[in-house]
Amino acid sequence: MKRNGWVAVVVLAALVAAVPMCRQEPAATPSIEVYFSPRGGCTEAVMRQIDAARSSILVQAYSFTSAPIAKALIEAHRRGVRVEAVLDSSQKSEKYSAADFLAHLGIPTRLDDKHAIAHNKVMIFDGEVVITGSFNFTKSAELSNAENLLVIRDPGLAARYTANWREHAGHSEPYVGRGAAVLADPASDFAPDAVPEPSDSQPAGYLASTNSQVFHRAGCRSVSKIAGKNLTVYATRDEAIAAGKKPCAECKP
Ligand SMILES: [Zn+2]
Ligand SMILES: [Zn+2]
Repeated sequence: MKRNGWVAVVVLAALVAAVPMCRQEPAATPSIEVYFSPRGGCTEAVMRQIDAARSSILVQAYSFTSAPIAKALIEAHRRGVRVEAVLDSSQKSEKYSAADFLAHLGIPTRLDDKHAIAHNKVMIFDGEVVITGSFNFTKSAELSNAENLLVIRDPGLAARYTANWREHAGHSEPYVGRGAAVLADPASDFAPDAVPEPSDSQPAGYLASTNSQVFHRAGCRSVSKIAGKNLTVYATRDEAIAAGKKPCAECKP
């Protein structure tokens, strides 16, 4: 009886000592997923995180030509998520680029020319989740290349990536976009050969929904109602008309 009493005291003391440690443990454990391309679910993993974001998405990208990812970012921007992008300055010399698409549709976009190449491929979601790896946001990275993508839920790590994102954003140039990117097929990449060289006189492109006969100027309020996956961008007015679209009565493109 006396011996059992001592055992009880020792067990109780051990439990009391263990409680604070147990309480601290869950938050400190990051969760990590990994995906490998080709066709290993990298694009889907990126899209899932974009769709789940509640407050902010910070993008750092070298080559960014994936139409589905660009459209998912537009959708997030439209539901009130603060989306901002810092892209490599090569996006300016590319004939077609996501930089133009994002900038035209209202996402603050900057180009970083302070390095030989700005080679990061990172997105930071809600200050909690970081995706990074070799995976560029392109169709070839998804379909043709050997790449890896990590999805890491770790607020501490996300804070370090956010600080690095801000450092690069701080020395990057704001980009307003030029010409227009063509996103005719949501399943396809941007179509490099279909986009004419931009000129100073060319406006910021014309937009329509795949579900509507009407096309708009980029600034028309009707554009904000078009779902990202249905969004089609025409480089010229003639191109929109050739596709069977009629000018909007309100914005008179
Ligand atoms: Zn930089
Ligand atoms: Zn309109």
